[in-house]
Amino acid sequence: MVLSEKIVRTLKTLRRHYPGGGVLEIGDPFAMVVAVLLSARTKDEQVLKALGRLFQKYPTPTKMAKARVENIEKLISNIGLYKSKAKYIRGLSEKLVEEYAGVVPDTIDGLVTLPGVGRKTASVVLVGAFGKQAIAVDTHVFRVVNRLGWVKAKTPEEMERKLLPIVPNENWRDLNHTMVPFGRAICVPNPRCWACPVADLCEFKKKNLVPPKNAVGIIEDAKKKEQTLLVMRDEVKKQMV
Ligand code: SF4
Repeated sequence: MVLSEKIVRTLKTLRRHYPGGGVLEIGDPFAMVVAVLLSARTKDEQVLKALGRLFQKYPTPTKMAKARVENIEKLISNIGLYKSKAKYIRGLSEKLVEEYAGVVPDTIDGLVTLPGVGRKTASVVLVGAFGKQAIAVDTHVFRVVNRLGWVKAKTPEEMERKLLPIVPNENWRDLNHTMVPFGRAICVPNPRCWACPVADLCEFKKKNLVPPKNAVGIIEDAKKKEQTLLVMRDEVKKQMV
């Protein structure tokens, strides 16, 4: 099977299993920039909890830009590296107010001018908040794609560069939406190939195909966790309306 066909088939299969979209896709672009910034080295569940608290108090760039950094810190103190993230959130809110009239830019070039926002964050925001096509390589995408054998890359940047020409444009969003939950539930660091719906399309040499005794429980648990995240996301979304 040629690579392009393999990619499309893999994404189509994964889309059937993970139709829920990104758990940090809150809708509101400002909330989404903050959510993705908070998510570095932090579980999405913790991010969603902190986001709810933070946006209850400071729902707009203007309000956030006037907040004291210590107050932001208190609201996100369950998050890894919360002190530096609080500074970034204040800084990017100020920049949005001063240079972008309080509106989050909808281009990579604009987004990366915001403090704390790198290319990966910008790509996730473009896909999730603006419905644009982009490829964001996070730790899950990086691990899963290397195993699937679509490309071999040593860094997320190298992977993004190599994926852009080989993944059909209309599949970029699917890649972001499916690989993250798939990497969280099945293609985890010690992969659960015994439950993998795309094992026949994967080139990973050391497949772990023997199910453990509690296989059913493990998969049920992973599904419940994913569902809980989607419910939490939808609650935060409602709060933003
Ligand atoms: S077969 Fe295993 S390594 Fe390959 S994608 Fe599935 S879970 Fe990951």
